[in-house]
Amino acid sequence: VKTTPLVLCLALASCTDAPTASIDKPAAPVTSAQALTHKQLRGDILSVELHFDLSQMSAHGVYRVQTDGTHIDLEVDGLDVTDTRDINGAPASTVTKLSSHAILTLDALPGTNAFTIDHRFTDDTQNGMQRGLSLSRQNTLLWPDGCSALYPCHSDPEDGIMFSLDVVGLPPGAMGLYGRQVNAQAPSYMLAFAYGDYTAYDAGTTSSGTQIRGYVNKHRATPPNYAAHLQDLRAQFDWLERTIGAYTFGDEVGSIVVPNGFGGMEHHPVWYVEDIESDAHEAGHGWFGNGVRIRCWEDLVLSEGVTEYLAIRVRRALAGMNYGYQNHLASADGPKPHPGSNKAWYPDTCDVRSAYDALDTVYSQGSGFMMELATLHGEAALDGVISEFYMQHKGTAARFQDFLDFVAQRSSVDVNALAAKWLL
Ligand SMILES: [Zn+2]
Repeated sequence: VKTTPLVLCLALASCTDAPTASIDKPAAPVTSAQALTHKQLRGDILSVELHFDLSQMSAHGVYRVQTDGTHIDLEVDGLDVTDTRDINGAPASTVTKLSSHAILTLDALPGTNAFTIDHRFTDDTQNGMQRGLSLSRQNTLLWPDGCSALYPCHSDPEDGIMFSLDVVGLPPGAMGLYGRQVNAQAPSYMLAFAYGDYTAYDAGTTSSGTQIRGYVNKHRATPPNYAAHLQDLRAQFDWLERTIGAYTFGDEVGSIVVPNGFGGMEHHPVWYVEDIESDAHEAGHGWFGNGVRIRCWEDLVLSEGVTEYLAIRVRRALAGMNYGYQNHLASADGPKPHPGSNKAWYPDTCDVRSAYDALDTVYSQGSGFMMELATLHGEAALDGVISEFYMQHKGTAARFQDFLDFVAQRSSVDVNALAAKWLL
């Protein structure tokens, strides 16, 4: 998710340590009542194939859903479901209300079930672009649990999906910007599309062969030194691939400089930034947040805290800075623990809290925790632990405690005490 620009000191002789980061809070909080229902939904969505027609504001989807039971539930808040068919072409669904959600319930058999669903969706411009497609902004936003403003889904971050996307009915001359095919499990909010009058910039490939591109809206000034910035982004992506592990969401990625609005959003393989300084952070979500998903919103630090740290770490590593963060943590500008208040982590519950409950603290506190851990354990050594965790958990959901346990087995640092100091 978005951050304000990182203030980096890499080139300044007087500047000896890490950057700071902060966050703008999105406008529309999610209520706990909504969050409570996520885990109650039946079925595990394996994949969705979605065909959107913007000229009709309609969509056709093919769903593969795994269940142990006889019913599958999909969230359809904000959608008008016009047709559902099972594998034999027979209609098979009812729409009911569960708590505050509208739920599409499909009859199913134990095992993998295939369905087609046709639905209509609406322009969400007037709702502040917190849910679904905005026709004026010309892009979608589903984070954290707004996927059902665009397609029938499970907003539970634990339920990953593979997806394919096709968007037609765009305005004349508009460029469609989205990942066509994602063959690794991703959270429901990663699915996105943008379109409009854009100029594409080709930044070449990483050593692993991943193509890096940037897209700038023609109605907006190209950011200063954008070509050089994209080369930095390519180097950062390359470092993440080499150091943390192979990227799982395809071999073509891009950063869209959106015309206005939120700071950034991790829509891999084509993410959004308002300020290009957020590119390293949004790219990092390819590994944490998306590559490794969070199991519960209470674990947001595993997404935002680790990603914020990686965005700081990758810039320092490329500048040859590998000596720890003690000066930065001791400085007036450095992140500071807030014991007893402003929690950045809620280990005792799952899906009771919303993603917004820790959003004010999770970047600073989470990256502060990671920086002190890196200082105590060693930055390069911690890279190896993070990589090992990523390789074992990519494509799955994890709790932050899983990460702590993993580190504890590989480090003499009292990582649970350090987490309590920074995050609780
Ligand atoms: Zn983020």
